[in-house]
Amino acid sequence: MKSWKTLTPDVTQLVPVHFSPGRGGNRVSMVVIHHNAGNLSVEECYRTWLTREASAHFQVESSGRVGQLVKLSDTAWHAGDWGINTRSIGIEIANCAGAAEGWPVSDAAVVTAARLTAAICAYFKLGEPKSGVNVRYHSDFYSTACPGQLAPGKPLNKKFMAEAKRFYRELTMPEPKHLRPDYGKLAFEQLAGYGRTPQGKPSFSGWEQLGGHTVVDALAIIGQTLGIPGFGLKTARKSEK
Ligand SMILES: [Zn+2]
Repeated sequence: MKSWKTLTPDVTQLVPVHFSPGRGGNRVSMVVIHHNAGNLSVEECYRTWLTREASAHFQVESSGRVGQLVKLSDTAWHAGDWGINTRSIGIEIANCAGAAEGWPVSDAAVVTAARLTAAICAYFKLGEPKSGVNVRYHSDFYSTACPGQLAPGKPLNKKFMAEAKRFYRELTMPEPKHLRPDYGKLAFEQLAGYGRTPQGKPSFSGWEQLGGHTVVDALAIIGQTLGIPGFGLKTARKSEK
């Protein structure tokens, strides 16, 4: 993902068909998890959905690369249930091997899909990801084996949900105050120099590399030297050295 906060995927390739514009007045209230029953790339999903009457908002490849194929504000055709489609974001996840191996999913795809689920919960303010509440599965709404090993009670579901919850907390944790830069102080110091009076108050101490002048005074001197009308320290406050 390019950005978890803004849900910006690695690649965007929107399908021109087999989705519905808008959401019929409904709001997003859940993520619906699918597996490919195949090991597809974003581009292969795109080509498949051009001819098949199906789509999902995101495809997570086995490498962890994420593609978006339907806009968040539009309804993708993935759950086999129109009402659910209008209220959900559909995530398709690639399998790294086939039916004989039981449709496994790579570590990278499990972790990325879990983080994407957490990021969607944060973006749409759905609260912490909870299986069966705001994280649902294709098989909840349709008679299907999808999402295979990611379904509740199956081997990968625990790992998927644990990472979704962990990443949600990381994503929504407020930045500790002491780590936040004080932009007002930084801007003041850039202009005036970073000196302090003995009482600890900021002083117009100027900058060594500007001959002891503040930024504004240094500009005035440069302007005066260049002969720019109106520039000059004569009309400006002198540096308080
Ligand atoms: Zn499915």
